[in-house]
Order: sequence, then structure tokens, then C-alpha cells
Amino acid sequence: MELAALHARVDACRRCAIGSTRTKVVCGVGDPRARLVIVGEGPGENEDRIGEPFVGRAGELLTKMLAAIDLRRDDVFITNTIKCRACVVEGGQVRNRAPMQEELANCRQYLDEELAIIKPRVILALGAPAAKSFLGAAFSITRQRGIWYAGPAGTDLMATFHPAYLLRLTGGEMTQVKKLVYADLLAVRTKLDDAIADEGRPENASPATKTDDEGSPAQLAFGDLVD
Ligand code: URA
Repeated sequence: MELAALHARVDACRRCAIGSTRTKVVCGVGDPRARLVIVGEGPGENEDRIGEPFVGRAGELLTKMLAAIDLRRDDVFITNTIKCRACVVEGGQVRNRAPMQEELANCRQYLDEELAIIKPRVILALGAPAAKSFLGAAFSITRQRGIWYAGPAGTDLMATFHPAYLLRLTGGEMTQVKKLVYADLLAVRTKLDDAIADEGRPENASPATKTDDEGSPAQLAFGDLVD
């Protein structure tokens, strides 16, 4: 299995110092034939402990975001720009930090290999660091989210706000950002359906898209969590 072999190589990687401080390496998980790949920033404390991406609170919200467009985690492939937890010790506390350029560069090969194995049609980058890793340092998540770009290997790529960012918001700002994210998710779902229809692969047929104006239960669950 190509992904398992890649995982073993990433597990043995010590190119960065965080390769020696991490508990578990965190490679992508999900459907190896997924048409949609979700790319986050990097593992946090829970992911580092368990060895799976997006298993903490942000992961819970990601699951609800996917459910809002009638997708389960198993329908997609979920990964990160870096595979080891980037952290600093401050006042005796271990705190997550943004990945360094060198870490992003060292790990890029592994992300590219995951993409080469999965061969997705659509990539959704979560948050500025993931978006910048594809679209360059000048990318602005507030101004350029929700726009389709040419991603690697013929993919369509969009960036939206990271679920961890959503979880930090309150009140009106949260409601506003939640609406933007929901619009982005709907655009991703449409692009994904178009890609699947384009491939003409009935075995990949996506679940029926909800059409009711009231909002599906999944949609409401996403709303509930961030309201
Ligand atoms: N945030 C990320 O960007 N990735 C994870 O795996 C978890 C939280």
C-alpha cells in the first residue's frame, strides 16, 4: 500500500528538529481514492498524541463542516502541510507554533507524494499557512478565500478559514465568518460534484445534494457548533 509505505518513510524522517520532539508523526487519513483533499496547517497536541490529523476541537468542527455538505470524513482525504507537531516550551507549557519555512519546505515532498497517490480533483486549504504553502506568501486569507485557483497537478484549489479560527470567534463576527465558510463549502461541493460527473465514474457517485430551503440536519449542526 503506497500510503502505508509513505507513512513509514515520514515516520523515519528526522530532517527537522520537530521530527525528534514529536510523539507521533501525523500523515493524512481518509479515502485513498478521494476526489477532495483537505489540507490543514499541522498537528496540534491531540493529533501528536493520537497520530491522526484533526482529532481535537478543530477536527470536530471540521467533521461538522464536511457534514454540512453531506460528506463524511471517510469520503475525503485529510492531511496537513507538516506532519510533525511544531511547538515551543514557554513557562513550562508546551504551546503550538506556526511551522517554520524550513519545516514547510522539508515536509512539502511528503504532501506532494500524498497528492500524487490520491490524485484528487479538488483541494481545500484550511487557513492562511496551508493556503500560502500552495499559493505563495502574499496570499491573504481574508481577501482571497473563496476563490478558485489552479492547484498542483491539475487540481482546483480553494482556501477558507481554518476551523480553529472559527472556534476563537464570538458574536456577530462569528456569524459573519461562519456564513462565508458555509458559502465556500457549498462551492467546494459543487466543484466536487462537477469533477465526479466529469469523470463519469458511477462508483464515485456522491450522496444526493440536499435541496430543501430549511437546511439539512448536517447544515444546522455546523450552525449549532459555531453559534
Ligand atoms: N489543525 C490543523 O491544521 N491540523 C490538524 O491536524 C489539527 C488542527
